[in-house]
Amino acid sequence: MRTRILALAAAFVAAASTPMALAQQYPTHPITLMVPFAPGPTDTVARVIAQSMSKPLGQTIIIENKPSAGGILAPELVKNSKPDGYTILIHHIGMATTPFLYRQLRFDPLKDFEYIGLINDVPMTLLGKQQLPAKDFKELLTYIKANKDKVSLANAGLGAASHLCGMLFMSAIQTDLLTVPYKGTGPAMNDLLGGQVDLLCDQTTNTTSQIKGGKVKVFGVTTKTRVPSLPEIPTLDQEGLKGFEVSIWHGLYAPKGTPKAVMDKLVAALQAGVKDDEVKKRFADLGATTYPPEKATPAALQSMVQSEMDKWGPLIKKAGVYAD
Ligand code: ASP
Repeated sequence: MRTRILALAAAFVAAASTPMALAQQYPTHPITLMVPFAPGPTDTVARVIAQSMSKPLGQTIIIENKPSAGGILAPELVKNSKPDGYTILIHHIGMATTPFLYRQLRFDPLKDFEYIGLINDVPMTLLGKQQLPAKDFKELLTYIKANKDKVSLANAGLGAASHLCGMLFMSAIQTDLLTVPYKGTGPAMNDLLGGQVDLLCDQTTNTTSQIKGGKVKVFGVTTKTRVPSLPEIPTLDQEGLKGFEVSIWHGLYAPKGTPKAVMDKLVAALQAGVKDDEVKKRFADLGATTYPPEKATPAALQSMVQSEMDKWGPLIKKAGVYAD
């Protein structure tokens, strides 16, 4: 009798731990969401969406910052994680631009991930340190022309949104500035506030409170139209940089091979997150637009990655910018 009970218990344990059963029980413990940058704008997006997604999933989502130049380490770590849904990734436009910027990238955005879906779209702002003498965009250009050998522009490394925005700005004004890389625009913002660096192009999820608090100078937003939460700031296009447009989309990814039952739960949690009024308000207050649930899908994220690769790839190749 005892042997039969033990055999039955063993069979039960074995059945409960098959990949299929584990996927159906998912999640039974906290999930890790890797952020490719130091605490800053992408980290803020991650924390807002993670908190909301943890409700339907019934588990905490722990944020882990894995900063590196251009944010290329976190995707590699997630690619190499167990595909069980317990390690996922948030990333932005860098997912589509880094393949053209790094000759030896150790992940492939089209082959190494399961796509969960799109989260939001975040405008950028061109900021200057408070001590800069320029009061507006016109004066900034004059200042840059007169001081071009010493004006510094911070970014979060090759492949970061701030790097892309800075490149577009320097090309639009046909002037090379001294670029200073950080492990995220969080630390870059600290140096801008401290006056150690002159300029920074950064996402509104990191800049809104500094702008509203009058801690930095703001010279323009990078979107085609003004940002509703910052209506007094002109667009760079309105300031004369015709056609200047860059906005930073964020998506969630899981390692390739994550079971469908797990993916379905992650997608449903993301869709609940983007429908959550608190999430939408939080993002709107920070200048960001939350995607509707029909874009919080694997297909929409996949098509965004592909179309952004098609858009930026040829431009980056033409500019000939490469990391060694
Ligand atoms: N979004 C990055 C961060 O969170 C920086 C960047 O892409 O420029 O720091």
